[in-house]
Amino acid sequence: MSVDCLFCRIISQEIPSDIVYEDDMVLAFRDINPQAPVHILVIPKKHIPTIADLEDGDQGLLGHIHLVIRDLAEKEGIAEHGYRVVINCRESAAQSVFHVHFHLLGGRSFGWPPG
Ligand code: AMP
Repeated sequence: MSVDCLFCRIISQEIPSDIVYEDDMVLAFRDINPQAPVHILVIPKKHIPTIADLEDGDQGLLGHIHLVIRDLAEKEGIAEHGYRVVINCRESAAQSVFHVHFHLLGGRSFGWPPG
């Protein structure tokens, strides 16, 4: 937990959010500024600033997050047509919250390359 971190404060429910899934390792909640009909942020409860800060011991956590994303995509009805999972890392990727988060986006078509 980092006292200065927005997402740590969402995990502790000091700041309210629209939570769609929670377990002992992970929280998932709807993005406050959705970029698609479905836009969910999946975050580890452990405070990790960026994916560049991941450690070898985080391997199991990362696998778990991907299974949570798979299940949320099914539950939200976007699995059949497809969806996008995005991780922004540091300044060049426009990361704005420095607590690792996976954007799960679906419900519309996406272009490539990304902007
Ligand atoms: P990124 O730019 O990859 O760091 O993504 C941060 C995301 O957090 C953005 O999509 C924001 O809209 C989202 N966000 C910021 N504050 C909140 C909040 N209080 N509740 C939900 N999502 C938030």
